[in-house]
Amino acid sequence: MSKLIYLDNAATTAVRPEVLDAMMPYLKEEYANPSSIYTFAQKSKKVVDESRRTIAELLGAKEREIYFTSGGSEGDNWALKGTAEALKAKGKHIITSKIEHHAILHTCEYLERQGYEVTYLDVDENGLVSPEAVEAAIRPDTILISIMFANNEIGTIEPIKEIGEIAKKHDIFFHTDAVQAFGHIAINVDEMHIDMLSASGHKFHGPKGIGFFYMRDTVKIGPLIHGGAQERSRRAGTHNVPGIVGIATAAKSAYEDLDQKMKQQAEIRDYAIDRILKEVPYCRLNGDRVKRLPNNINVCFRFVEGESMLIMLDQKGICGSSGSACTSGSLDPSHVLLAIGLPHEIAHGSLRMTLSEETTKEDMDYVVDNIKAIIERLRSMSPLYEDFVKKNK
Ligand SMILES: *Cc1c(COP(=O)(O)O)cnc(C)c1O
Repeated sequence: MSKLIYLDNAATTAVRPEVLDAMMPYLKEEYANPSSIYTFAQKSKKVVDESRRTIAELLGAKEREIYFTSGGSEGDNWALKGTAEALKAKGKHIITSKIEHHAILHTCEYLERQGYEVTYLDVDENGLVSPEAVEAAIRPDTILISIMFANNEIGTIEPIKEIGEIAKKHDIFFHTDAVQAFGHIAINVDEMHIDMLSASGHKFHGPKGIGFFYMRDTVKIGPLIHGGAQERSRRAGTHNVPGIVGIATAAKSAYEDLDQKMKQQAEIRDYAIDRILKEVPYCRLNGDRVKRLPNNINVCFRFVEGESMLIMLDQKGICGSSGSACTSGSLDPSHVLLAIGLPHEIAHGSLRMTLSEETTKEDMDYVVDNIKAIIERLRSMSPLYEDFVKKNK
């Protein structure tokens, strides 16, 4: 087969070789349950503790504030449902944004059916949540503010520190879905006044099915998963030891030389963006140009369907996405692109490409050359485009 250019790292990533190496012993000989008493279990227990420490240090958190989960969706559910349950006597109002992941939005809709009220904040044309709007939405019965760290579709990085300060000033819990941010940009929970944070291993070259949830000491919410006494009785279930070792190893690798890696990725990202905007007519970049994840490109091309583009890119060995993996299969345009004000017909022609450290400038030249040819071909078949060209002559 010809080469594969994988540009869907926001959907999932490849496991790093050193991550797999670190996991192997715990899939093979060191299979003991870390909660067991005998000597054979000591190594499993020790490695879970070490992994927790690694993650805590990267976030500027305490070890006991890190809980291992099954991934990002679980953390998001825990933050919302746990806070709703624990604070229902104080109030039933939650503030979030219109561009959150469905793990947040669908959980909010579930809570609305349970009698909670949710304010879904608008974003600006670049996908930014305004801290002033967050403050203006606060009511005496507000129990939680949940705003994502960085958007999975358009890559916009939100003003988390400013929102955290507002939450702290009003003494309201602040959760952030950092699934696209952790492992990609630096995060410090104290500096940013974050009370709860969800992250997921498979979004930064760790294994699938493992994540962690940061919960500040002062946050007292109950478990989402009831059962055994694991994770200080707040998250039941036998520890996924290989997964835990894997996520910690992936996190450590991700944050080594982070500045250098970010700079390098952003350079390749910007090179490809510049080429597309310059060489393809009638397209626009979605998301903030500067406050942007170093690996995210999201462009709308007028007069083409995102799906058709993806199929033709696939024939060239290029994996991209249109909207997010969770919504593909449905014909609705992305809720994120609609929230930044794009009309339906333009939102349908979106292409997201999310790079990794492995992506080279040569890869992106190959991709952009193919995009140009594909867009030209698709437009040549579009009656809408033909009309438009006639009118604009
Ligand atoms: C992928 C993703 C999730 C879900 O994480 P899983 O580990 O797959 O459950 C949640 N939020 C965002 C922003 C994501 O990108």
